[in-house]
Amino acid sequence: MLKEGATLTKLIHPVLLLAPTAYQVEEIESILCQNDTVQFEVVNCTSCTDAFNLLDKEPIYTTILLNLPLANKTNIHVLGELVKKFPDKSIIIIADEVYRDKGISLIKEGAQDFILKSELTASRLSRAIQFASERNTIRKEAKSVAIKSQEHYQDVFNKSKDAIYICDLDGNLVNYNKSTASLLDISYDKLQSIDIHNLMYSQKRRNDFLVRLVAAKNVEDFEMEIERPQGERRQCLITARMMEHTDFTGYTGIIRDITEQKQAESLKKARNLAHQSAKMKEQFLASISHEMRTPMNAILGMSNLVIQTDLDEEQHNYISSIKQSSEILLGVVNDILQISEIQNGKVKFENKNFNLHELLNNLINVMQYKAKEKKLGLELVQDDGTPTIIRGDKLRLNQILYNLVGNAIKFTDSGHVKIYVVNLNQNSYSVQIKFIVEDTGIGIPPDKVDAIFESFTRIRTKDRIYEGTGLGLSIVKNLVEQQGGKIGASSEFGAGSNFFFDLIFEIGEELEFDSDAPAEILLDRDAPIKLLLVEDHKMNQLVAKKTLEKQWKNIKITIANNGKEAITILEKELFDIILMDIQMPIMNGYEATQHIRHKMPAEVAQTPILAMTAHAHISQDEKFKTYGMDDYVLKPFEPEQLFKKIGQYALINKTVR
Ligand code: ADP
Repeated sequence: MLKEGATLTKLIHPVLLLAPTAYQVEEIESILCQNDTVQFEVVNCTSCTDAFNLLDKEPIYTTILLNLPLANKTNIHVLGELVKKFPDKSIIIIADEVYRDKGISLIKEGAQDFILKSELTASRLSRAIQFASERNTIRKEAKSVAIKSQEHYQDVFNKSKDAIYICDLDGNLVNYNKSTASLLDISYDKLQSIDIHNLMYSQKRRNDFLVRLVAAKNVEDFEMEIERPQGERRQCLITARMMEHTDFTGYTGIIRDITEQKQAESLKKARNLAHQSAKMKEQFLASISHEMRTPMNAILGMSNLVIQTDLDEEQHNYISSIKQSSEILLGVVNDILQISEIQNGKVKFENKNFNLHELLNNLINVMQYKAKEKKLGLELVQDDGTPTIIRGDKLRLNQILYNLVGNAIKFTDSGHVKIYVVNLNQNSYSVQIKFIVEDTGIGIPPDKVDAIFESFTRIRTKDRIYEGTGLGLSIVKNLVEQQGGKIGASSEFGAGSNFFFDLIFEIGEELEFDSDAPAEILLDRDAPIKLLLVEDHKMNQLVAKKTLEKQWKNIKITIANNGKEAITILEKELFDIILMDIQMPIMNGYEATQHIRHKMPAEVAQTPILAMTAHAHISQDEKFKTYGMDDYVLKPFEPEQLFKKIGQYALINKTVR
């Protein structure tokens, strides 16, 4: 019903009026009509059945005016039924005086407002209806927001990879997603009858979890093992929040499976640990080896001296054994030092012209002797096209080949060893060469082929004692790979092995002057030489002194125990040559050399200085040159090399003077 004269701009509120008689309907309608600010569209019913039918059909009636008492219904029940069936509607009760005391309980039952008929005015009623209508709008909006957020949560719930569930404190699941089923490895339907707490592995952990949850209402990232029905355990993190309602006490739980993550972490930890311990092992070995080298030098030097004295055969054999054993030991020490240097990335590779054919022929010549001892054939099979002069690190290539050919001879008892040199690729700038060392020896078991390139690997074989440290191939592999090459092996156990590697070299043009091969200028054995030996180690002083005195009858050796002493001596006396150790207390060899070169008078400053070092890499980095040393000699002394260098430099000095 539209109020007369109502304009269309006014808001229209649809209202359902349920009153016991037509008279009462009319009475309330007339009150509503008195309001001239709001417009109501009222539909009326005098029976509950009609009202329910209408509300079912016409959802726009969100406000209900319920006039009590009704003739044909128990009044309280009507309200109850309306609230139950149409929870979204706003019900305003208009009641006779007898209901005055019931107002509160009717509101509690779900009515939105309660107006006594005696107090019913147009403005009171229209306010109540307007308020009801606003409430409905708000409720609708809230509902749509709630639906949206519920949809969102439902989506998260369904799609989550984590198990999400609600259960009571006894572990009975009320709701759960598919991931719960897959994490627990139980079919979705079966889960309903499962006590989820039973799957939490340790009883103690489970109790801890529940006690914490109940006490703090909230548990985050609690580590727990879940045991699947087949016995497989998964490492998980549980986050849970208590739910306490009048009719339900339980919690929502989220379980994240972190098994793979944990495995990856522990793998990483183990790898780091292994890496660290390997590094520590190498560092330890390197420092031990370094410490061993000085006494080794002394033993070798002394044996060299003794062996040259008058000895009977027995004594000669003993000393030879000492000499040989110390040479082997020194080889081991050098290998260890070299591998630690290589692995620390300290090795620098040279790029100088060298004659490949000469290198290969020398290799064959040297190794031929060992092969003949074992009655093995040793042969070089070289591609015609391999260039003669190439650029690269000659010493390293030599080292690699000596190692592989040495092994091949060592592990072959009959047959042959062949070295193939194949030109894989060549352009005008570079050449890729493949070297293959083939033997007919004992071979390597198939499962060990990869392992032999690892440090300290030696294959246990019956009837063979270990020969070597198992470092050779590891050094070789590092040397090849650090020069950008590839190395591998194939073998037939009992029949022989093939070791192969390839490297790229620049094509060389002409040979540069090889500074490593000093001209053979030897001072004659009677020449008077004044030599200053700067060395802190007593044994090494003795070895050097005796070795040199054996070579030159008229040599005069003065000993300084460190750089400082050397300078003091040089302030008073001139020498033909200085042998300078590098590592020394008080003042080391580098500092002393710099002082001599830059702070002393010209005739002292120009004295040739040979560095003495146990570090084979000194020749590589040429650090000694930057400090002003002329050359170096390696300890333990190779007497011939020592004599040659002293002869060469001392003679030059004498000639200059
Ligand atoms: P080492 O420095 O002690 O000679 P390597 O690293 O060179 O050790 O070699 C490791 C192990 O690989 C050897 O102990 C041996 O068991 C195996 N091996 C190497 N070369 C051969 C080969 N040509 N034939 C059979 N076994 C070999």
